[in-house]
Amino acid sequence: MPSLRQDIATRTWSIIATERGQRPHDFKKTGVRPRVESYDAKCPFCPGNESLTPDPVFVVPDRGDPERWAVRVVPNKFPALVVPEAGIERRRKRKGLYLEMCGCGTHEVVIEVPDHSKTIATMTDEEVELIVRTYRDRFLELDKADWNQLIIIFRNQGEGAGTSLVHPHSQIIGTPIVPDEIRRRLEEAQRYFDDNGTCVYCDILDYELKEKERLVCANDGFAVICPFASTVPYEMWILPRNHASSFGELDDDGIGDLAGILRESLLRLYHLLDNPDYNYILRSAPHYSAGEPHFHWYVQVLPRLTKRAGFEIGSGMNINVVVPENAAAELRKVQMV
Ligand SMILES: [Zn+2]
Ligand SMILES: [Zn+2]
Repeated sequence: MPSLRQDIATRTWSIIATERGQRPHDFKKTGVRPRVESYDAKCPFCPGNESLTPDPVFVVPDRGDPERWAVRVVPNKFPALVVPEAGIERRRKRKGLYLEMCGCGTHEVVIEVPDHSKTIATMTDEEVELIVRTYRDRFLELDKADWNQLIIIFRNQGEGAGTSLVHPHSQIIGTPIVPDEIRRRLEEAQRYFDDNGTCVYCDILDYELKEKERLVCANDGFAVICPFASTVPYEMWILPRNHASSFGELDDDGIGDLAGILRESLLRLYHLLDNPDYNYILRSAPHYSAGEPHFHWYVQVLPRLTKRAGFEIGSGMNINVVVPENAAAELRKVQMV
């Protein structure tokens, strides 16, 4: 019998379609995958092709050779939103019945490593740590700009997740408004706080650490769970164990812990499902909600194994064909070498 499950943090429902009983091998890609070399002369992100991207806004030099870079952040060549010029009007304008405003914001690309063939799962902890530190430093910098109300850091892995560029990279977008999807999450968290006097994410974390059946792994700073109402197979939430609403609060110890657990959870996914496509999204409070007691930042990992179709789009409710407890058990079982 399928069941409907509610995410208490957002009040969204998912259908867990247990009948179908999908196993990891049902999701593995078929066919031979082309081998990815560690350097591609045509890739705009590979070392030597720096002139093909806009000038960097942030560079982490290679520790062994300061002439080379370890992480490079550049403005997106085809930005969704652009940094406003002096005197730009942020005010919304009426356009007949409708509202419009200029597309100001920030859109940056984090070129994660020089090596073309790597992915977070196959990087070293040190490499992932530099990426996480870059995320934190750029977040703090972009959060200062008054045209950025919300900073979203995300990674699209593979064509199924919306990227055609193989070279390991993530993106950071600062938006001048807080979209309704985010506003709803904040409002639901606020409502839970009003009713219970506690942060819903802290409560989920305590509960899952005790229950353990949806726990994937944990370290000093973070715990990884398959959420009770997972929207897609093998969804994971990487939650900081101490309450913090903004990613900008991540300190240096936290950077190491997040890098370690991010790599570990993605490596588990990599082995279990043979390098699947996925998106991860760093969900942090908007600028004006930093420091709130009711919101809790986290990283949401969404493997792209199934497609959203008419029902999902029409209802806003996903059908998940893998029971989250089974997903967590499979992910826990992966042998870490
Ligand atoms: Zn490349
Ligand atoms: Zn919390």
